[in-house]
Amino acid sequence: LGNCQRSPSTGSRFYSSQVRKCTMIPGDGIGPEISQAVQKIFATAKVPIEWETVDVTPVRGPDGKFGIPQAAIDSVNRNKIGLKGPLMTPVGKGHRSLNLALRKEFNLYANVRPCRSLEGYKTLYDNVDVVTIRENTEGEYSGIEHEIVDGVVQSIKLITEEASMRVAEFAFEYTRENKRKKVTAVHKANIMRMSDGLFLRCCRDVAAKFPDIKFEEKYLDTVCLNMVQDPSQYDVLVMPNLYGDIMSDMCAGLVGGLGLTPSGNIGINGALFESVHGTAPDIAGQDKANPTALLLSAVMMLKHMGLVEQARIIETACYETIKEAKYLTGDLGGKAKCSEFTNEICAKISAH
Ligand code: NAD
Repeated sequence: LGNCQRSPSTGSRFYSSQVRKCTMIPGDGIGPEISQAVQKIFATAKVPIEWETVDVTPVRGPDGKFGIPQAAIDSVNRNKIGLKGPLMTPVGKGHRSLNLALRKEFNLYANVRPCRSLEGYKTLYDNVDVVTIRENTEGEYSGIEHEIVDGVVQSIKLITEEASMRVAEFAFEYTRENKRKKVTAVHKANIMRMSDGLFLRCCRDVAAKFPDIKFEEKYLDTVCLNMVQDPSQYDVLVMPNLYGDIMSDMCAGLVGGLGLTPSGNIGINGALFESVHGTAPDIAGQDKANPTALLLSAVMMLKHMGLVEQARIIETACYETIKEAKYLTGDLGGKAKCSEFTNEICAKISAH
């Protein structure tokens, strides 16, 4: 890990003031525009980071199969940390999702998505502040499917003690480090007695080691119902892969949609932070995109690296710009260009 040390708990790393290299995957569509916006804001805030930009367009390997270019893999393995814009997933047979490939390649086992109401941006509730932590490597997304006989297929939901313990431990450590209070394990162990039962047992075992953090168990359907009626009752939620995929989008919807939502994929040897939205081909190259989700993902990355002061300054400038509502992009009901929104954040940072 070079000149940084791993936190004994969440694996966050604390860096010396020396400039660190971070991998940047700008992505497709609006990816390059919003990546440039983030880089400009980071430069204004004098964040001690040097970006190493890589292309992840799949290349054909010696075995004839398409995969992530080796230079991109080497960069993430070397730097252990990266920021990623959206990637286009080509539709059709034989194309694997590059996002899934990246998760697998770097064993990014926990997907973290904070969803917080933004002051000045009107949504159904103004008090949402939840973090979903999704097991990112197994469950229904293990890709184990087969046809038993004609007309009958089987998809395996794979749950292991190792992956369940790992993500439960991450959830409790994250809760403690971020001074949050409660972890809710979300499950359907009443139906999936063995698989969700194992996941739940792991959460209970880990909870016993964190007496300072409140722990509760709730059925997935109950959490969905509660979340749309009164989201303030939840804090940190931990759950298996498929439930997390769906629940995190629902939470994003409560705070204004995917265009505002950041995320982090945390692995054993590295972490990749990414905006949750896609490539927005309808507005790509027109200076119309909202860079907030990628910027807040970059802020999560800074916190993960221990650069909390720079993270706070950038986050505050971003929230202030949205609250003032003078330079909002089209998706938030404004008329500002991506560059104007970005310049306003930079002006606020410079005036700090
Ligand atoms: P999308 O998120 O790209 O777009 C949906 C709508 O939201 C569009 O109207 C778009 O203009 C708008 N939008 C999205 N992000 C925005 C932003 N930052 N600022 C302003 N408006 C924004 O979803 P889609 O159209 O379903 O997908 C397009 C492509 O993106 C597909 O190839 C898909 O596979 C890919 N995708 C990638 C990721 C990822 O890399 N994490 C996630 C989702 C979709």
